[in-house]
Amino acid sequence: MKPIPSGQRDGTGEPALSDSPSMGEAPVILSFDVEEHYRIEAAAGLSLDPDLKARSGGRLVPATDWVLDLLGRHGIQATFFIVGEIARTDPGLVRAVHAAGHEVGSHGWDHRRVLSMSPEEFRRDLRQSCDALAQVTGVGIQGYRAPTFSIVRRTAWALDVLAEEGLLYDSSIYPVRHDRYGVPDAPRGPFLAEGDGGGTILELPPALLRLPGMNLPVGGGGYFRLLPPVLLERALGQIRRDCRPAVAMLYFHPWEFDPDQPRLPLNPLSRFRTYVGLRRSGTRLESLLRRHRFVRAVDVARQLNARRDELDVFRPGTGL
Ligand SMILES: [Zn+2]
Repeated sequence: MKPIPSGQRDGTGEPALSDSPSMGEAPVILSFDVEEHYRIEAAAGLSLDPDLKARSGGRLVPATDWVLDLLGRHGIQATFFIVGEIARTDPGLVRAVHAAGHEVGSHGWDHRRVLSMSPEEFRRDLRQSCDALAQVTGVGIQGYRAPTFSIVRRTAWALDVLAEEGLLYDSSIYPVRHDRYGVPDAPRGPFLAEGDGGGTILELPPALLRLPGMNLPVGGGGYFRLLPPVLLERALGQIRRDCRPAVAMLYFHPWEFDPDQPRLPLNPLSRFRTYVGLRRSGTRLESLLRRHRFVRAVDVARQLNARRDELDVFRPGTGL
Protein backbone atom coordinates (compact mmCIF):
# COMPACT_ATOMS: atom_id res chain seq x y z
CA MET A 1 0.00 0.00 0.00
CA LYS A 2 1.48 3.30 -1.07
CA PRO A 3 1.53 6.15 1.46
CA ILE A 4 -0.11 9.36 0.32
CA PRO A 5 2.58 11.91 -0.51
CA SER A 6 2.07 14.98 1.63
CA GLY A 7 3.04 17.15 -1.34
CA GLN A 8 -0.36 16.37 -2.87
CA ARG A 9 -1.96 18.51 -0.23
CA ASP A 10 -1.25 21.82 -1.85
CA GLY A 11 -1.47 25.21 -0.18
CA THR A 12 -4.78 26.93 -0.77
CA GLY A 13 -4.25 30.42 0.57
CA GLU A 14 -5.84 29.98 3.98
CA PRO A 15 -6.42 33.23 5.89
CA ALA A 16 -3.58 34.09 8.26
CA LEU A 17 -4.25 32.91 11.80
CA SER A 18 -1.96 33.03 14.80
CA ASP A 19 0.48 30.17 14.39
CA SER A 20 1.15 29.03 17.93
CA PRO A 21 -1.01 28.03 20.89
CA SER A 22 -1.19 30.67 23.60
CA MET A 23 0.16 29.61 26.97
CA GLY A 24 -2.38 28.27 29.43
CA GLU A 25 -4.99 27.87 26.72
CA ALA A 26 -7.64 25.24 27.43
CA PRO A 27 -6.90 22.04 25.51
CA VAL A 28 -8.99 20.81 22.60
CA ILE A 29 -9.95 17.15 22.22
CA LEU A 30 -8.90 15.83 18.83
CA SER A 31 -10.77 12.81 17.50
CA PHE A 32 -10.94 10.73 14.33
CA ASP A 33 -13.72 8.36 13.29
CA VAL A 34 -12.14 5.42 11.53
CA GLU A 35 -14.23 3.56 8.97
CA GLU A 36 -13.87 2.56 5.33
CA HIS A 37 -15.16 5.46 3.28
CA TYR A 38 -17.89 3.37 1.60
CA ARG A 39 -19.54 2.89 5.02
CA ILE A 40 -20.64 6.53 5.24
CA GLU A 41 -24.34 7.15 5.75
CA ALA A 42 -24.62 9.00 2.43
CA ALA A 43 -23.67 5.77 0.64
CA ALA A 44 -26.17 3.58 2.53
CA GLY A 45 -28.53 1.86 0.11
CA LEU A 46 -26.19 2.23 -2.87
CA SER A 47 -25.22 -1.02 -4.52
CA LEU A 48 -21.54 -0.43 -5.04
CA ASP A 49 -19.46 -2.08 -7.71
CA PRO A 50 -17.26 -4.66 -5.86
CA ASP A 51 -14.11 -3.25 -7.46
CA LEU A 52 -14.95 0.31 -6.36
CA LYS A 53 -15.75 -0.97 -2.86
CA ALA A 54 -12.41 -2.79 -2.68
CA ARG A 55 -10.47 0.24 -3.93
CA SER A 56 -12.32 2.50 -1.48
CA GLY A 57 -11.68 0.12 1.44
CA GLY A 58 -8.03 -0.18 0.40
CA ARG A 59 -7.53 3.52 1.14
CA LEU A 60 -8.29 3.07 4.86
CA VAL A 61 -4.78 2.05 5.91
CA PRO A 62 -2.79 4.65 3.90
CA ALA A 63 -5.20 7.44 4.88
CA THR A 64 -4.97 6.51 8.58
CA ASP A 65 -1.18 6.17 8.28
CA TRP A 66 -1.08 9.72 6.91
CA VAL A 67 -2.95 10.98 9.99
CA LEU A 68 -0.70 8.99 12.36
CA ASP A 69 2.39 10.37 10.66
CA LEU A 70 1.07 13.95 10.90
CA LEU A 71 0.20 13.60 14.59
CA GLY A 72 3.57 11.99 15.27
CA ARG A 73 5.39 14.91 13.66
CA HIS A 74 3.43 17.34 15.85
CA GLY A 75 3.77 15.26 19.03
CA ILE A 76 -0.03 15.11 19.42
CA GLN A 77 -2.08 12.26 20.89
CA ALA A 78 -5.70 11.94 19.84
CA THR A 79 -8.72 9.66 20.17
CA PHE A 80 -9.61 7.26 17.34
CA PHE A 81 -13.16 5.90 17.38
CA ILE A 82 -12.73 2.76 15.29
CA VAL A 83 -15.37 0.50 13.71
CA GLY A 84 -15.06 -2.83 15.56
CA GLU A 85 -15.00 -4.96 12.42
CA ILE A 86 -11.69 -3.29 11.50
CA ALA A 87 -10.13 -5.04 14.50
CA ARG A 88 -10.80 -8.26 12.54
CA THR A 89 -10.00 -7.09 9.01
CA ASP A 90 -7.05 -4.77 9.77
CA PRO A 91 -5.82 -5.52 13.31
CA GLY A 92 -2.45 -3.97 12.40
CA LEU A 93 -4.13 -0.60 11.95
CA VAL A 94 -5.74 -0.75 15.40
CA ARG A 95 -2.41 -1.83 16.90
CA ALA A 96 -0.58 1.04 15.16
CA VAL A 97 -3.04 3.61 16.54
CA HIS A 98 -2.70 2.21 20.06
CA ALA A 99 1.08 1.82 19.86
CA ALA A 100 1.46 5.50 18.95
CA GLY A 101 -0.15 6.45 22.28
CA HIS A 102 -3.55 7.37 20.88
CA GLU A 103 -6.79 6.32 22.52
CA VAL A 104 -8.87 3.64 20.78
CA GLY A 105 -12.62 4.15 21.25
CA SER A 106 -15.59 2.33 19.73
CA HIS A 107 -17.42 3.54 16.63
CA GLY A 108 -19.87 0.63 16.67
CA TRP A 109 -19.38 -2.84 15.18
CA ASP A 110 -20.11 -2.23 11.49
CA HIS A 111 -21.11 1.46 11.39
CA ARG A 112 -24.82 0.74 11.66
CA ARG A 113 -26.65 3.74 13.11
CA VAL A 114 -28.23 3.46 16.55
CA LEU A 115 -31.48 4.63 14.92
CA SER A 116 -31.79 1.28 13.14
CA MET A 117 -31.26 -0.85 16.26
CA SER A 118 -33.31 -2.02 19.22
CA PRO A 119 -31.76 -1.52 22.68
CA GLU A 120 -30.73 -5.18 22.78
CA GLU A 121 -29.20 -5.03 19.29
CA PHE A 122 -27.34 -1.91 20.32
CA ARG A 123 -25.98 -3.61 23.43
CA ARG A 124 -24.71 -6.54 21.33
CA ASP A 125 -23.19 -4.16 18.75
CA LEU A 126 -21.43 -2.17 21.47
CA ARG A 127 -20.08 -5.26 23.26
CA GLN A 128 -18.91 -6.86 20.03
CA SER A 129 -17.03 -3.73 18.93
CA CYS A 130 -15.48 -3.02 22.35
CA ASP A 131 -14.42 -6.66 22.81
CA ALA A 132 -12.84 -6.89 19.34
CA LEU A 133 -10.90 -3.62 19.77
CA ALA A 134 -9.83 -4.46 23.33
CA GLN A 135 -8.56 -7.87 22.21
CA VAL A 136 -6.18 -6.18 19.79
CA THR A 137 -4.99 -3.36 22.07
CA GLY A 138 -5.08 -5.26 25.36
CA VAL A 139 -6.77 -2.24 26.93
CA GLY A 140 -10.44 -1.77 27.85
CA ILE A 141 -12.48 0.62 25.66
CA GLN A 142 -13.68 3.70 27.54
CA GLY A 143 -15.30 5.92 24.92
CA TYR A 144 -18.00 5.56 22.29
CA ARG A 145 -19.12 7.57 19.28
CA ALA A 146 -22.26 6.49 17.45
CA PRO A 147 -22.03 6.27 13.66
CA THR A 148 -23.42 9.51 12.17
CA PHE A 149 -24.00 10.99 15.68
CA SER A 150 -27.10 8.78 15.83
CA ILE A 151 -27.89 9.29 19.52
CA VAL A 152 -30.83 11.65 19.16
CA ARG A 153 -34.07 12.17 21.11
CA ARG A 154 -35.67 8.88 20.09
CA THR A 155 -32.50 6.86 20.76
CA ALA A 156 -31.81 8.40 24.19
CA TRP A 157 -32.26 4.88 25.63
CA ALA A 158 -28.77 4.18 24.22
CA LEU A 159 -27.32 6.41 26.97
CA ASP A 160 -28.66 3.94 29.57
CA VAL A 161 -27.00 1.07 27.71
CA LEU A 162 -23.66 2.93 27.54
CA ALA A 163 -23.81 3.67 31.28
CA GLU A 164 -24.80 0.07 32.12
CA GLU A 165 -21.97 -1.32 29.99
CA GLY A 166 -19.46 0.75 31.97
CA LEU A 167 -18.30 3.21 29.29
CA LEU A 168 -16.58 6.25 30.75
CA TYR A 169 -17.90 8.73 28.22
CA ASP A 170 -19.91 9.19 25.05
CA SER A 171 -19.45 11.61 22.15
CA SER A 172 -22.54 10.95 20.02
CA ILE A 173 -24.82 13.94 20.64
CA TYR A 174 -24.35 16.85 18.24
CA PRO A 175 -26.21 19.95 19.54
CA VAL A 176 -27.31 21.08 16.08
CA ARG A 177 -30.31 20.93 13.76
CA HIS A 178 -29.54 18.62 10.82
CA ASP A 179 -31.54 16.27 8.62
CA ARG A 180 -29.59 13.18 9.73
CA TYR A 181 -28.76 13.84 13.41
CA GLY A 182 -28.68 16.38 16.23
CA VAL A 183 -30.25 17.41 19.54
CA PRO A 184 -30.34 21.19 18.97
CA ASP A 185 -30.96 22.20 22.60
CA ALA A 186 -28.25 19.99 24.15
CA PRO A 187 -25.47 21.88 26.00
CA ARG A 188 -22.42 23.03 24.01
CA GLY A 189 -19.85 21.96 26.59
CA PRO A 190 -19.41 18.64 28.50
CA PHE A 191 -22.49 17.49 30.40
CA LEU A 192 -24.06 14.42 31.97
CA ALA A 193 -26.45 12.91 29.45
CA GLU A 194 -29.40 11.12 31.05
CA GLY A 195 -31.08 8.24 29.24
CA ASP A 196 -34.79 7.42 29.26
CA GLY A 197 -34.15 4.96 32.11
CA GLY A 198 -32.30 7.48 34.29
CA GLY A 199 -28.75 6.25 33.60
CA THR A 200 -26.16 8.99 33.11
CA ILE A 201 -22.94 9.17 31.15
CA LEU A 202 -20.44 11.95 30.55
CA GLU A 203 -21.12 13.49 27.14
CA LEU A 204 -18.46 15.30 25.09
CA PRO A 205 -20.26 17.07 22.22
CA PRO A 206 -18.50 18.30 19.06
CA ALA A 207 -17.73 22.03 18.98
CA LEU A 208 -20.18 24.46 17.44
CA LEU A 209 -20.51 28.20 16.97
CA ARG A 210 -23.44 29.85 18.73
CA LEU A 211 -25.12 32.37 16.43
CA PRO A 212 -28.38 34.24 17.06
CA GLY A 213 -31.12 31.63 16.79
CA MET A 214 -28.93 28.72 15.75
CA ASN A 215 -25.87 26.58 16.41
CA LEU A 216 -23.48 26.36 13.47
CA PRO A 217 -21.67 23.01 13.40
CA VAL A 218 -18.00 23.82 12.92
CA GLY A 219 -16.35 21.00 14.89
CA GLY A 220 -15.27 18.79 12.02
CA GLY A 221 -16.25 16.80 8.97
CA GLY A 222 -17.58 18.65 5.94
CA TYR A 223 -18.07 21.84 7.95
CA PHE A 224 -14.36 22.00 8.69
CA ARG A 225 -13.55 21.57 5.00
CA LEU A 226 -16.22 24.00 3.78
CA LEU A 227 -16.30 26.88 6.27
CA PRO A 228 -13.51 29.46 6.69
CA PRO A 229 -11.13 28.41 9.54
CA VAL A 230 -11.81 31.70 11.32
CA LEU A 231 -15.31 30.40 12.26
CA LEU A 232 -13.82 27.41 14.05
CA GLU A 233 -11.42 29.74 15.87
CA ARG A 234 -14.35 31.90 16.91
CA ALA A 235 -16.23 28.83 18.17
CA LEU A 236 -13.23 27.70 20.24
CA GLY A 237 -12.95 31.20 21.73
CA GLN A 238 -16.67 31.21 22.51
CA ILE A 239 -16.50 27.80 24.21
CA ARG A 240 -13.54 28.92 26.33
CA ARG A 241 -15.40 32.06 27.34
CA ASP A 242 -18.90 30.63 27.91
CA CYS A 243 -18.64 26.93 28.82
CA ARG A 244 -17.62 25.49 32.18
CA PRO A 245 -15.74 23.25 31.94
CA ALA A 246 -14.26 24.89 28.84
CA VAL A 247 -13.70 21.79 26.72
CA ALA A 248 -14.07 21.59 22.93
CA MET A 249 -14.16 18.41 20.84
CA LEU A 250 -13.19 18.22 17.15
CA TYR A 251 -13.82 15.24 14.86
CA PHE A 252 -12.39 14.15 11.52
CA HIS A 253 -12.12 11.01 9.38
CA PRO A 254 -8.91 9.72 7.78
CA TRP A 255 -10.64 9.57 4.36
CA GLU A 256 -11.19 13.35 4.54
CA PHE A 257 -7.44 13.80 4.04
CA ASP A 258 -7.13 11.43 1.09
CA PRO A 259 -7.85 13.53 -2.02
CA ASP A 260 -7.08 10.70 -4.43
CA GLN A 261 -9.56 8.18 -3.08
CA PRO A 262 -12.12 6.85 -5.57
CA ARG A 263 -15.37 8.86 -5.45
CA LEU A 264 -18.61 7.05 -4.62
CA PRO A 265 -21.65 7.55 -6.91
CA LEU A 266 -23.54 9.78 -4.42
CA ASN A 267 -26.48 12.08 -5.15
CA PRO A 268 -25.49 15.72 -5.85
CA LEU A 269 -26.12 17.08 -2.30
CA SER A 270 -24.28 14.20 -0.63
CA ARG A 271 -21.52 14.45 -3.19
CA PHE A 272 -20.99 18.10 -2.30
CA ARG A 273 -21.12 17.50 1.48
CA THR A 274 -18.78 14.53 1.24
CA TYR A 275 -16.11 15.77 -1.13
CA VAL A 276 -16.07 19.56 -0.60
CA GLY A 277 -12.62 20.86 0.31
CA LEU A 278 -10.87 17.47 0.12
CA ARG A 279 -7.82 18.92 -1.63
CA ARG A 280 -7.17 21.58 0.99
CA SER A 281 -8.16 19.62 4.12
CA GLY A 282 -4.68 18.23 4.89
CA THR A 283 -3.10 21.68 4.83
CA ARG A 284 -5.97 23.04 6.87
CA LEU A 285 -5.60 20.31 9.52
CA GLU A 286 -1.86 20.79 9.78
CA SER A 287 -2.34 24.52 10.30
CA LEU A 288 -4.99 23.84 12.98
CA LEU A 289 -2.65 21.47 14.82
CA ARG A 290 -0.09 24.27 15.12
CA ARG A 291 -2.56 26.69 16.66
CA HIS A 292 -3.86 24.75 19.69
CA ARG A 293 -2.97 22.26 22.38
CA PHE A 294 -4.69 18.91 21.70
CA VAL A 295 -5.51 16.02 24.00
CA ARG A 296 -7.21 12.62 24.02
CA ALA A 297 -10.85 12.40 25.08
CA VAL A 298 -10.17 9.77 27.75
CA ASP A 299 -7.78 12.05 29.64
CA VAL A 300 -10.36 14.85 29.80
CA ALA A 301 -13.12 12.36 30.66
CA ARG A 302 -11.19 10.99 33.64
CA GLN A 303 -10.78 14.50 35.06
CA LEU A 304 -14.40 15.44 34.45
CA ASN A 305 -15.75 12.22 35.92
CA ALA A 306 -14.01 13.07 39.17
CA ARG A 307 -16.12 16.27 39.22
CA ARG A 308 -19.46 14.88 38.03
CA ASP A 309 -21.44 16.88 40.58
CA GLU A 310 -20.30 20.11 38.88
CA LEU A 311 -21.69 19.11 35.49
CA ASP A 312 -25.10 20.01 34.10
CA VAL A 313 -27.49 17.10 33.59
CA PHE A 314 -29.38 17.06 30.29
CA ARG A 315 -32.04 14.60 29.22
CA PRO A 316 -32.34 14.43 25.43
CA GLY A 317 -35.33 12.05 25.37
CA THR A 318 -38.91 13.29 25.35
CA GLY A 319 -39.67 11.23 28.44
CA LEU A 320 -42.92 10.18 26.77
ZN1 LIG B 1 -18.44 7.16 11.09
